Amino acid sequence: MTEIETEVVIAGAGPTGTTLAYELALAGVGTVVLEKQSRRVEQVKGGAIQPRTAELLESRGLLEPLLSRAVAREPVGGHFAGLPVPLDCTPWHTRHPYPITVPQSTVEEVLEGQAVARGARVVHGAAVTAVEQDDDGVSVTAGDLRVRARFLVACDGGHSTVRKLLGAAFPGRPGTFVGALADVRLSAVSSLVPRKIGHMSDLTREANGYWAMLVPVGGDRYRLTYGQVEQTQARRDAPVTEEEIATALRAVYGEETVLDGVTSSSRFTDATRQVERYREGRVLFAGDAAHIHPPYGGQGLNTGMQDAFNLGWKLAVTLQGRAPDGLLDTYHAERHPVGARVLHHTSAQRVLFHPRPDGDVAALRDIFSDLLRLPDTNRHLAGLMSGLSLSYDLPGEHPLVGRRVPDISLDYGQRWLSALFRAGHAVLLDLAGIVPDDVRLPGWIDLVRAHGAEDLGAAALLIRPDGYVCWAADDADACRGTLAEAVATHLAPRPEDLPVRPG
Ligand SMILES: Cc1cc2nc3c(=O)[nH]c(=O)nc-3n(C[C@H](O)[C@H](O)[C@H](O)COP(=O)(O)OP(=O)(O)OC[C@H]3O[C@@H](n4cnc5c(N)ncnc54)[C@H](O)[C@@H]3O)c2cc1C
Repeated sequence: MTEIETEVVIAGAGPTGTTLAYELALAGVGTVVLEKQSRRVEQVKGGAIQPRTAELLESRGLLEPLLSRAVAREPVGGHFAGLPVPLDCTPWHTRHPYPITVPQSTVEEVLEGQAVARGARVVHGAAVTAVEQDDDGVSVTAGDLRVRARFLVACDGGHSTVRKLLGAAFPGRPGTFVGALADVRLSAVSSLVPRKIGHMSDLTREANGYWAMLVPVGGDRYRLTYGQVEQTQARRDAPVTEEEIATALRAVYGEETVLDGVTSSSRFTDATRQVERYREGRVLFAGDAAHIHPPYGGQGLNTGMQDAFNLGWKLAVTLQGRAPDGLLDTYHAERHPVGARVLHHTSAQRVLFHPRPDGDVAALRDIFSDLLRLPDTNRHLAGLMSGLSLSYDLPGEHPLVGRRVPDISLDYGQRWLSALFRAGHAVLLDLAGIVPDDVRLPGWIDLVRAHGAEDLGAAALLIRPDGYVCWAADDADACRGTLAEAVATHLAPRPEDLPVRPG
């Protein structure tokens, strides 16, 4: 038995586990990731990075390596329930208003590489089989490897072994249909096959008893998602055959569409479940291990990565003894409602997205499409689906508290606000010279005095490493009166323990 000691052990090197590993390694936390698969499954599963995830990746300098491997797509907004009206993110003031198409395996590969470069260790072919926790830490067994750590984070997907080993409740509802997903090569295509990635409503079709979505991912390669309109035969655990894929392709895209090969395939359902508690002692849950839902609107990978951005810095400062009391528990308090909201709106989309809507659902789709043409409704759903409207219910008086900060340019265009977060630190941004020079801040809060090209709605803001405002002030008096208390509430133990730091 090989023994490893570390600070955090992560089960699963999917998008959630690799993002978390990066965040922890960036903060200097010893991190070991145990991944069941001995090599990465090259399956195009989650393919859409939503605008808010893109902003978070940008803040760490991780977006560029992903953009360089993104699949070309039309500059068109996302969708709600496949309705034919693009969601317009421009009212949310973002530099990334459109979903970005990057195969999930590429996301994992890039993030894993970056995490390892920062010092994380990823062990492939190590399936977690046992977990024991006590007051001081956790012991995790994976084959002949035993890892002792202060915390375990379960990022091991919808069928989470860790969740099952702990007997953590995963209430919800089973799936109502079984769909299949396949990466295919086509040697010939009919005029019905999409030539480019445009709006979702142009990528989906229903014909001859099947529904399908076909996404061109480069050359003769496509990502095919399909199922039967009348769900009678498919079983979750039945292997996906080439014959079945060819039949579905012909049914939806005609005889001229010819299957040349299948790279990978799997089945999925629209099961909807969420763990009751994101923390069980020294074990935390993130990503699909914490929540599963129908795959409408490209939400799962994004919610999981955003779980990781929320959890990473909290876990790091807790381990380093720099956290205010209860900081780690705010992970559940903040992220459980976000997961519940995703379950809620994907359930609504399940009804509207029906491949062959009956009269009532067709009427609902018409009415919803009209509503989406109204700017306020479109803005609301664009904010929801892109993650840009997400805010947390944080203590604090100022209206900006809990909200995300748009990425504005600073100092007459010399840098972007997002670039201040490369180190994963919190930032005290002083836009009007109101923060006193003798302010006392812990070393991991960077004081930045700058000029903003646009009005952010406050003269100074304290921004968490995950880009959410936890304090703001409009003038020097408000700053003097409330800043120290805000630092102690959100980011650091007690003001009197803080080192003096020059302005
Ligand atoms: C058809 C379809 C399309 C989708 N499209 C999108 C999309 O466009 N955008 C989007 O945001 N989401 C999408 N999703 C959802 C997305 O794929 C998932 O939400 C995402 O994979 C969750 O990431 P994760 O890291 O939490 O879990 P996973 O990706 O499931 O990763 C879990 C990892 O843990 C490993 N593991 C499992 N058990 C163990 C164990 N015992 N020990 C160690 N390791 C273990 C697994 O091998 C895996 O590598 C889609 C899903 C489907 C089915």
